[in-house]
Amino acid sequence: MELNRTLDQVTPSLTLQLVAKVNDLKQQGKDIVGFTVGEPDFPTPQHIKQSGIDAINDNFTRYTAAVGINELKDIIVSKLKTENNLEYTAQNIAVNNGAKHSISNVLMTLINPGDEIIIPAPYWLSYPEMVTLCHGKSVVVPTTKDSGYKITAQQLKEAITPKTKAVIINSPNNPSGAVYSEQELQSLVEVIAESGIWVISDEIYEKLVYDGNKHFSLAQYPQIKSQVIVVNGVSKAYAMTGWRIGYIAAEPEIIKGVAKIQSQFTSSPCSISQKAAATAISGSQDEVEKMRSIFEDRRNLAHDLLNKIPGLSVDKAPGAFYLFPQCEGYNKVTPEGKAINSSLDLADYMLEKHHVVVVPGKAFGCDLNFRISYATSHEQIKKGIERIHNAFAELR
Ligand code: PLP
Repeated sequence: MELNRTLDQVTPSLTLQLVAKVNDLKQQGKDIVGFTVGEPDFPTPQHIKQSGIDAINDNFTRYTAAVGINELKDIIVSKLKTENNLEYTAQNIAVNNGAKHSISNVLMTLINPGDEIIIPAPYWLSYPEMVTLCHGKSVVVPTTKDSGYKITAQQLKEAITPKTKAVIINSPNNPSGAVYSEQELQSLVEVIAESGIWVISDEIYEKLVYDGNKHFSLAQYPQIKSQVIVVNGVSKAYAMTGWRIGYIAAEPEIIKGVAKIQSQFTSSPCSISQKAAATAISGSQDEVEKMRSIFEDRRNLAHDLLNKIPGLSVDKAPGAFYLFPQCEGYNKVTPEGKAINSSLDLADYMLEKHHVVVVPGKAFGCDLNFRISYATSHEQIKKGIERIHNAFAELR
């Protein structure tokens, strides 16, 4: 019997496949350096873990309200007020099973078949696949190294059609590490206000910004606040990827749509994780700052080393934990005579011959680039980038 035809247009997450491949090779005893992970390599801070343990011991282990307990929603409301200067009430908040789930809920709430979603490239690889699964159409807008991998107001304006439902802005960005400044966001505001489209503002890397940069949200612009759907969560800031808590702040009509979908598809997020997330967001932020500053050191190291590789150019990206080097071009050949014509060829060659794993840029809509995650030790960064250096030195 035929399955859902839409599945034929969807590819499984390449990064998760690569992580599995690296683990397999490591289990076979190979000395592989993996730069693929999209998660902090730190443990969840102790006081957060303790609050999960307390939740279990207190038997807080049952279903909760579909889009989250009031305690956590209230904590999110005050976080948005104090940290982002955003006024919301609990009616504007929905808690989900990770920010990925927040985004899929939002897309399902927004999209009628054929609606267009504008996605600047490079993009987080799940966006277009989720849009397809919701029977929407992704309109990918390529950005360039010169624009810092950020969409301009002109590009946004040109991409909008009568079918446009939303644009996804992800700052700090995965995979480029780019962070939109206050002025850059301001320049998009007029176009967004005029067109009336929704904005999905994916702010999951909010706390990971460097060089004294500050995170801004499009929801901070009063003219468009009601059009903006803020997505955030605890995975990246608090090293809590496995706890699966994300959240949305938006107009009540969006929250009601999300609540309908979530109550029928998944019920509430994990009760224990909600308690831990409440502690993470409302408790001391000292551990977050420690992790942030370690990431900044690693970013500096990785950038310095990559910058020395002839044939590569790499921005010192101010956010998230990724660098996104760009190659001069392909048409190269390995010493074994294998042609390198794409980021996929390049990543395969680096894995097979030099035992270093990067994510090919094609997965993010930019074939000239590859992504490295520096959520790994100084030692691994040095060893892995030396291998990348050797790999490039051998190409003819
Ligand atoms: N948004 C972006 C840009 C991401 O990179 C990720 C995770 O890699 C997510 C959302 C999803 O985060 P979560 O683990 O909370 O589902």
